[in-house]
Amino acid sequence: MAASGKLSTFRLPPLPTIREIIKLFRLQAMKQLSQNFLLDSRLTDKIVRKAGNLTNTYVYEVGPGPGGITRSLLNANIAELLVVEKDTRFIPGLQMLSDAAPGKLRVVHGDVLTFKLEKAFPESLKRNWEDDPPKVHVIGNLPFSVSTPLIVKWLENISVKDGPFAYGRTQMTLTFQKEVAERLVATTGSKQRSRLSIMAQYLCNVKHLFTIPGQAFVPKPEVDVGVVHFTPLIQPRIEQPFKLVEKVVQNVFQFRRKYCHRGLAMLFPEAQRLESTGRLLQLADVDPTLRPTQLSLLHFKSLCDIYRRMCDEDPQLFAYNFREELKQGKRKNQEKEDERYGL
Ligand code: SAM
Repeated sequence: MAASGKLSTFRLPPLPTIREIIKLFRLQAMKQLSQNFLLDSRLTDKIVRKAGNLTNTYVYEVGPGPGGITRSLLNANIAELLVVEKDTRFIPGLQMLSDAAPGKLRVVHGDVLTFKLEKAFPESLKRNWEDDPPKVHVIGNLPFSVSTPLIVKWLENISVKDGPFAYGRTQMTLTFQKEVAERLVATTGSKQRSRLSIMAQYLCNVKHLFTIPGQAFVPKPEVDVGVVHFTPLIQPRIEQPFKLVEKVVQNVFQFRRKYCHRGLAMLFPEAQRLESTGRLLQLADVDPTLRPTQLSLLHFKSLCDIYRRMCDEDPQLFAYNFREELKQGKRKNQEKEDERYGL
């Protein structure tokens, strides 16, 4: 493990190209696993450069594959690089890189969805939440099917300061399908405004750094790719539990073209729906005829704060799920029908 605080100017020795590595280890991308590789070192260098100053930083790369971004990172004066790759086929090639960068690269065969980063780097890296971000950075170009659930999991980790955020306000640079990147940064009133915009922006400063055209990848995916940077906020814009915020946001956006009161109403059981929705909107001072995309983070903050107050007054409320009520309603109707026909 590289010593913390020691500045080094390391360069990788000459190595076979990523294309040659792919041939050598027979690493053909598996389409069903959405493996799209970045082979152009100018682009992998750009991702690393745009991630910010990584000098002497402990970096966690998720899904390194044949190692394009990995190489750019190793040439960026980082303290140490830990990579977690799920597909065994890539491990020998990564191990070869590790041999070329003694003490710099740790290769783990594992799953990023379950890997525990909180114990992987030295304790001494930990910073207070209010301090500048720690010298820890998360970076990765993952399949889109993994990157979206993973960012939701990491946002929840930010809300409770665990996982990668046990070190403090760890910054992340991750790729997403361009449309998802646009949703992550979408501002109030924009067409792309969605659940993901609120969930990400209430906890982080989110920046869409740049877009990589699909043709830069091998094989070429159907879509372009957005590189997104996240810095957790010292003070979240909504100070309520993640699951509560998620529930309010999810309900609002389920009818994204309707007035916001339609989705919010579904937070309440049918018997009290009209009255409670009116009370929520009035106390939160939100115009019921705004569309979900027109609601600002401040609107969401007020809605979450008032909904929290209502949940405290009625301890059954948070567990209420209108889909369950719908299912039960359908079941009851079916039973009535069955009785009518003597079934
Ligand atoms: N980062 C490489 C690049 O830019 O060329 C590879 C990108 S490819 C889109 C995604 C990589 O993530 C693949 O190597 C794949 O095996 C790996 N991967 C997919 N799911 C993973 C998971 N749950 N945990 C760790 N690695 C994963």
